[in-house]
Amino acid sequence: MDLDGVVRLGDAPLPGAVETLARLRAAGKELRLLTNDPRPTRHELLRRLAELGVEFVLDEIVTCGWATAARLRAAGCESVFVLGSAGLTTELRHMGIAVVTSPSEPAEAVVVGCDENLTYSDLDEAVGRIRRGAWFVATNADTSFPGPTGPRPATGAVLAAVEAAADRGPHVVGKPHPPMFRAAVEGLSEGSQAVVVGDSPHSDVLGAHQQGLRAILVSTEPVDFPSRRDFRIPDARIADLSGLLDPEVVIRRWQHPEFSWPDTVRAGVAAVVFDEAGDVLLQRRADNGMWGLPSGHVEPAETVEEAVTREVFEETGLRVRVTGLIGVYSEPESQSFVYPSGRVSHFVTSCFRCRVVEGTPGAHGAETLEAAFFSPDALPTGLLPMHPRWLDDARVGRWAAHIR
Ligand SMILES: [Mg+2]
Repeated sequence: MDLDGVVRLGDAPLPGAVETLARLRAAGKELRLLTNDPRPTRHELLRRLAELGVEFVLDEIVTCGWATAARLRAAGCESVFVLGSAGLTTELRHMGIAVVTSPSEPAEAVVVGCDENLTYSDLDEAVGRIRRGAWFVATNADTSFPGPTGPRPATGAVLAAVEAAADRGPHVVGKPHPPMFRAAVEGLSEGSQAVVVGDSPHSDVLGAHQQGLRAILVSTEPVDFPSRRDFRIPDARIADLSGLLDPEVVIRRWQHPEFSWPDTVRAGVAAVVFDEAGDVLLQRRADNGMWGLPSGHVEPAETVEEAVTREVFEETGLRVRVTGLIGVYSEPESQSFVYPSGRVSHFVTSCFRCRVVEGTPGAHGAETLEAAFFSPDALPTGLLPMHPRWLDDARVGRWAAHIR
């Protein structure tokens, strides 16, 4: 379970928390307490919770700072440069990892946590080390936390500065990223089932669902997301922790959809180009070796028609003209792509029928291994899974029949 907003709010336990935790323990439930605050050590947090009257033991506490140290140790990392609190540094040292402070000492990783005494030269040092090849790790990516006069900059704000100058993205440990949840379920009894309890659909529910765990949202307000496949929809909602003991509360079974949760939604285009014989133009992609329709994404200020003619030329060397729209495809199951960086884009792709103006097809540019016309009845093997349907729609004009 999440700490802030579930067990405590500020310096006070939330209604029902203390009694519910005691009853869960009495019922033999194993508990893990999660927090994305990288600053305190687990020992410090344990003391603060005891002052609130909430008793936990050390192995039940999963801070993102401690989880980062555990992740680094599991990866065999022995030395780090840290932008973070004294608490984070302590957790790293407890894990047997050397924390270097002098610019002359090498470090295998740069760890970014929430550093309240950050200086320009700290940023400079971190960026230089990442650019020279150090592993870039972040305790969490939350951009702000609530303060008395409004949001205050958190780890994610420092991370954005380092990321911008280093031109590289971090490996993030904290919620909603997987390492935090893996750290939480590690060591639970064999065969036990876990459920995540949190107050944030974007952090707790999304993170749980990405890991295949069920999630209960603590909220007095119902949540509403437009798609029923949204990973942020909880499997149950309770007003406070005592709801965990309410026999009326039913937890839905979470089924992981067949796509990865997208970071962005982007505009895409694809072309179905027939020659006079009715054969269709396909290109074999350099990134995955698969055959597909010429396709790509829309650049700033481009119309979709401009984008599709540009993509066909860049990938096959053919000049084409758009003659009609076949359909607009957006199913996340087939239209979400995971890039090597780990980022996921969900494409909304307009697919156009085009005719050749001039040229003969061939490999043209770095994205294409080969390009050629194929009979629709004898398509090559290793075709991108969604393209046969688009091709079919182009031939019989029935895109609208698929709309759900
Ligand atoms: Mg919370």
